Amino acid sequence: MSELLYIENLTAGAEETELLHGVSLSVGEGETHVVMGHNGAGKSTLGSVIMGSPEYKVTGGNIVFNGEDITELSADKRARLGLFLSFQNPIEIAGITLAEFLRNALEQVTGKRIKLWDFKKKLYAAMELLDMDKSYADRDLNVGFSGGEKKKAEILQLLILEPKLAILDETDSGLDVDAVKTVSKGIDEYKKRTGGALIVITHNTKILEALSVDKTHILSAGKIAAEGGAELVDDVTKNGFERFSQQGA
Ligand code: ADP
Ligand code: MG
Repeated sequence: MSELLYIENLTAGAEETELLHGVSLSVGEGETHVVMGHNGAGKSTLGSVIMGSPEYKVTGGNIVFNGEDITELSADKRARLGLFLSFQNPIEIAGITLAEFLRNALEQVTGKRIKLWDFKKKLYAAMELLDMDKSYADRDLNVGFSGGEKKKAEILQLLILEPKLAILDETDSGLDVDAVKTVSKGIDEYKKRTGGALIVITHNTKILEALSVDKTHILSAGKIAAEGGAELVDDVTKNGFERFSQQGA
């Protein structure tokens, strides 16, 4: 299986502080990877650095995506290459509806105009799958959305953009059991439809039930502390992270 994402000895930080201390990770096409680790381990930082957030600076190593070195590329260029990051805390934008936001994002990523009718068809089909009322399409982006609705809007974006690799950062946090099921169904649909790869950052094994996990990475203090297959998720869920903690880090 060919590598889609290849990260080697990545160091990165914000301002003067190094937050990732030599992370290596690779994801093959169509694979599902899980990243776990306690709060503050650097999971969101890793996601943001892969996506090219200007908040962080890469100080060593590189990130190769689909055969191209993207270490210095801007986030929007990475999105055009097929990278996607769902945020732990989705932003709210007054004055832009969910539908406008998604259509614009799709046109940005593909570089093509899409007819309103074609877009609406695609949008409504995805919304139905996620049990979202159509009226949400015309509401301002995330404004007044509940935590669960915001997360569904993120998965909606995933289904519309169909990236090659999606990084989902705690998309399941704060969701009730039914919402987790719906979100999980959306992720499964993305995988089936596009054959895309996933990096799922999570504490919740429920979201993984519908997915077949290829590899698990445990992050601790900005380093990969352990790696394994799907069984590592169960192990960590039962026994916690303590034995993976980096001493003196
Ligand atoms: P996780 O997602 O695993 O809970 P984060 O990646 O959010 O952890 O954070 C890892 C560490 O990096 C934390 O100690 C956090 O305070 C720090 N950190 C994250 N972003 C910044 C930033 N922009 N500036 C300074 N420190 C940061
Ligand atoms: Mg986080």
